[in-house]
Amino acid sequence: MWSALQGRVSNRLARHFRAVPHRLTAHAPMVSFTFDDAPDSAAGEGAELLERHGGRGTYYLAGSLIGRPSKHWHGLSDDAIVRLHRAGHEIACHTFSHQGSAALDEAAMAREIERNRSHFRSIDASIRLENFAYPYGIASVWRKPQLAKTFRSARGILPGVNSGIIDLQFLRASPLVDCEIDEAGVDRYFDAAVASGGWLIFYGHDVTDRPSPYGCTPHLMRHALEAAAKRNMPIVTVAEALRRIGA
Ligand SMILES: [Zn+2]
Repeated sequence: MWSALQGRVSNRLARHFRAVPHRLTAHAPMVSFTFDDAPDSAAGEGAELLERHGGRGTYYLAGSLIGRPSKHWHGLSDDAIVRLHRAGHEIACHTFSHQGSAALDEAAMAREIERNRSHFRSIDASIRLENFAYPYGIASVWRKPQLAKTFRSARGILPGVNSGIIDLQFLRASPLVDCEIDEAGVDRYFDAAVASGGWLIFYGHDVTDRPSPYGCTPHLMRHALEAAAKRNMPIVTVAEALRRIGA
């Protein structure tokens, strides 16, 4: 109970403190599609849809979940990871065990990151994990500076568009999750990105006709991809977006 409370407070503080601020100057808006964990359908149908629309995605992976069944989906395979990587999608970092950052001290977090890095290096030696996403979207005010030394960015699940002064170590991301958003909601985020010249990031998990409570249908994803095309917004990985904003 107490530690759950501490975790919540730490997550809240992390939003406001130890920021790595970056001013996003007036820029053409852009969008990133990110998938966490990740289910095999994100690497299958999800990647196919992205590629058909000229985009690439960022996959925040936890080594312990690769190739394994879980409650809602089957984890993607080593072969799928290699295919994504070679096709120009970004392989990025979660914790290896998928433990949340609030539960890890500095040494434990360092072990998680190193284990994850070596896991993906062993699948393909050219995979570098440059960007991080907080498991469960929960940041920690204590781990944030540690992660900042290790990764170019860290993404949470605080919705909204990244615009103006953005925090590279707590990037905002909005759900591409059928349980949480509909087509009109997706359009509102795109309109906000156009109005602010900002960087819109979506997060999701599975992409299938009967998604888990954390995933989306191909229909909703197609809607988002077409919304980007209508507004001439490039669909870029997180690594590519950071390059474009000079971060
Ligand atoms: Zn996750």
